[in-house]
Amino acid sequence: MTDAPNPLPPVKKQLIVFDFDWSLADQDSDRWVHEALCPRLRRKMKELKPTMQFTDLCAMLLRELHDVEGKTEEEIKAAMRLMPFHPGMKRGVQNLKAAASPETTFFLLSNSNTVYIDTILEHQGLTNIFDEIVTNPAHFEKDGTLNVSRRVPAEAQVQHTCKVGCSANMCKGEELDAFLSRHGGYEAFDRIMYVGDGGNDFCPVLRLRKGQDVAFVRRYRGLEKRIKEEGGVKCGIRWWAGAWEMEGLLDEARAA
Ligand SMILES: [Mg+2]
Ligand SMILES: [Zn+2]
Repeated sequence: MTDAPNPLPPVKKQLIVFDFDWSLADQDSDRWVHEALCPRLRRKMKELKPTMQFTDLCAMLLRELHDVEGKTEEEIKAAMRLMPFHPGMKRGVQNLKAAASPETTFFLLSNSNTVYIDTILEHQGLTNIFDEIVTNPAHFEKDGTLNVSRRVPAEAQVQHTCKVGCSANMCKGEELDAFLSRHGGYEAFDRIMYVGDGGNDFCPVLRLRKGQDVAFVRRYRGLEKRIKEEGGVKCGIRWWAGAWEMEGLLDEARAA
């Protein structure tokens, strides 16, 4: 585990990968929807989490949020617009996007879902930031239920082959590799940066290169714990805790 250079060195072409919950956004969308609309279901989520695949649990509780609690599409979207999103993160991302140099590609890689992410990015004025978004598919059914499903369906012939513990719905490391295959490979980017906080960000961070790539790791959460306990990370690390600190790192990535 090594610290990345401070300040970050100049590059010509870079990729920045964002996790969504507690990384780009300053909350967790899957939990927030119930915290905002139905605390009983938030408690139920905590109770059942050890017993079910998490995307399946989210889908089940959203059905109950509609069928039993009568919450509507508009109420769910309003809850997402209300979710904490730090002005510094928003500013940092917009300024990096606007910078003439380096050339930056933006990739959002999340275990949330398309409805939450699209609603929040639109509300925050960030719709045009990302070149690609990979997450769990979701849509509102005619009766108003929010239907969320796994990125890799349970019934799919080919499941992911992750050996470091990604949940069945998606391996973020395999998704990062697949994104890079679509965009010229690792060697197409002088620097790959990954903004993450959770245990499921460990797998993609393990794939980043020594000497040139950087993980921006949010402190005190699952990713820091796994990096320290399991080791094996080759890329440099820069730590942050408050989103205002991440804004400073985003500024460094373009000042170069
Ligand atoms: Mg996260
Ligand atoms: Zn994985």
